[in-house]
Amino acid sequence: VFRNLKNAKQFAIDIGGSLTKIAYYSTVSFRRVYYAADNVDKNNDEDKDEKQDKFVYTYSEQARLHFVKFETKYIENCLDFIGENLVSSDERKGKSIKATGGGAYKYSKLIQEKLGLEVDKEDELDCLIIGCNFLLKNISDEAFVYNRNGSPEYEFQTADPHVFPYMLVNIGSGVSILKVESDSSYERIGGTATGGGTFWGLGTLLTKAKSFEDLLDLAEKGDHRKADMLVKDIYGGDYKNLGMHSDLIASSFGKVCPRQNAESDYNEADLARSLLFAISNDIGQIACLYAMMHSLKKVYFGGYFLRNRSLSMHTISFSIKFWSRGTVHSLFLRHEGYLGAIGAFLKGTE
Ligand code: ADP
Repeated sequence: VFRNLKNAKQFAIDIGGSLTKIAYYSTVSFRRVYYAADNVDKNNDEDKDEKQDKFVYTYSEQARLHFVKFETKYIENCLDFIGENLVSSDERKGKSIKATGGGAYKYSKLIQEKLGLEVDKEDELDCLIIGCNFLLKNISDEAFVYNRNGSPEYEFQTADPHVFPYMLVNIGSGVSILKVESDSSYERIGGTATGGGTFWGLGTLLTKAKSFEDLLDLAEKGDHRKADMLVKDIYGGDYKNLGMHSDLIASSFGKVCPRQNAESDYNEADLARSLLFAISNDIGQIACLYAMMHSLKKVYFGGYFLRNRSLSMHTISFSIKFWSRGTVHSLFLRHEGYLGAIGAFLKGTE
């Protein structure tokens, strides 16, 4: 659903390896209705006429940022959407479009040809950090801790100007790990190519899932113990000397190969879950090692891979807690996939 496009005033685009994200700004008019007198009985029909007289209307306009995403392979459709809704043809001469992500370079010519707009390119990591800092400092309930068995399950954080230092792990097609020390100082300290694109790619090979959502739904239904080799499959129980619980994964997909008995018969949902665990556990462990190496206590996760899904967030939280023995905290973001688009948008308002 594309909301408030008619009032769309300004926008920015983040063209990633898998997904293209757009943030657009518009104003929304609100009409508020309330009773002027508290002594009107709202349930009494005899008071009905009086009630009519006592209605008071106020009007206000609020700024809103809206978000839309397209798969980057449909970039032409995305540009058509922009052409039809976000820039009118009489506005285009001499104007530019604020763009970030690798596609700002790759598709620069296509954008120019299709929309007649110059591309004003912004560095993707700069945008990512600007977007993340903006959300953490200004938007209450943006960041949250996820505790699967906790009460509450979601522990929302209030906006806080004192967010630094922190680590940001952006799980997009690939993974970037950034140490952020202030508004103007950050460093890419690591990363891995085993990221969201890997999950999506291998998941497509292993299952019949038609969409990313389908693949995640499968993972939620599956039983990874059918495909993964656990400590108990090797030891018959816990590995007591090392304090390793019998249910820990010793080898992801390790049971697929020996396949000695019917017990290890797996279906595609089991494989999807096994894959989600393999990738999320490793990202969690890598993130934890970087956080400990740089003495950072807070790790925020961005990127479109997580989709705020509880299974993925739990796996990452568990992994970080396990490897750091509870000293590193993982936090998630409601607008996880739009950090770069928000940052590019904010750059356009400077
Ligand atoms: P990038 O900027 O590299 O495209 P994103 O932060 O947009 O990175 O995340 C892309 C990843 O998000 C994909 O690799 C995939 O794992 C995941 N993803 C989430 N939703 C979708 C979707 N609808 N289609 C494809 N991938 C998706």
